[in-house]
Amino acid sequence: MEFLYGKKVEERIINNFEERLHKLKITPNIAVLAIKGSQSSEIYMRNIEKNCKKYGIGFNILVANDENEFKDNFNKIKGDKSITGIMFQQPLAKEVNDLINEIPFKKDIEGIGIENMGKLFLGKKDAIIPCTSKAVMEMLDFYNIELEGKKVAILGRSNTVGKPLIPQLLEKNATVTICHSKTKNIQDELKNSDIVIIAIGRANFLKKEMIKENSIIIDVGINTFEGKVCGDVDFEDVKGYVKAITPVPGGIGIVTNALLIDNIIKSVE
Ligand code: NAP
Repeated sequence: MEFLYGKKVEERIINNFEERLHKLKITPNIAVLAIKGSQSSEIYMRNIEKNCKKYGIGFNILVANDENEFKDNFNKIKGDKSITGIMFQQPLAKEVNDLINEIPFKKDIEGIGIENMGKLFLGKKDAIIPCTSKAVMEMLDFYNIELEGKKVAILGRSNTVGKPLIPQLLEKNATVTICHSKTKNIQDELKNSDIVIIAIGRANFLKKEMIKENSIIIDVGINTFEGKVCGDVDFEDVKGYVKAITPVPGGIGIVTNALLIDNIIKSVE
């Protein structure tokens, strides 16, 4: 069984950052909009801040007390020329989250607004691609995992992972099935798949009996179970049964963080 570690993939991505940043006429400067109390993604935000500082990228966080203040903050910064990228700290109520579609597409560093998502689905090269979905593609590419003619099942249909993976996998000539909480007999879909990508946020959900022997598993999930970080795959159960698997931690997460910086640079380029 092969481990698909994220570290080497990350190294390949960050390799050209200094050179690309050096060529820019303006220094990237991002704003994160948050509402007080949305702590669940705080660790992710702290990692982003640390990474931005490492590359000399400006990082500003605007924490609103309520949704009205959030909207005011958004209106203030969306046209601000000194801000090159905008992202929202999740989770947010739908009403404020929908403001994502009003972020000018070049500042939409997460690539989840209507314009970038449309460009991605239509195969436009200037699309900014949601970084977690791109991390999956980079991982598959780095480890030379063939996609053409392969059956790939995605579990989870979020705008940041499952949905944006569809066009990227189709582009590589894979046959794609997407499952979600209302899918009946998920096992039947998975047993028929060469590659399974899981992003559902349920610790240890995926078991050996649900998948085909020698399949390749990309575990995007990040959960805590009994005080430890784990993915959506029951690693102990599938160990030795699958051909390759991304570890959690040490797999997709580290690649995602690098690709957000890549998006921040790309949005200025
Ligand atoms: P999300 O927005 O909550 O979406 C979860 C998806 O999983 C939904 O489509 C949901 O179906 C589906 N789902 C939930 N329970 C299911 C079940 N029992 N069977 C089948 N499908 C089920 O989650 P997300 O933001 O995509 O995140 C998913 C996981 O990835 C989380 O653990 C998160 O922490 C992790 N994550 C990791 C990274 C990274 O860098 N590694 C980045 C982002 C997220 P419905 O649509 O029907 O509700």
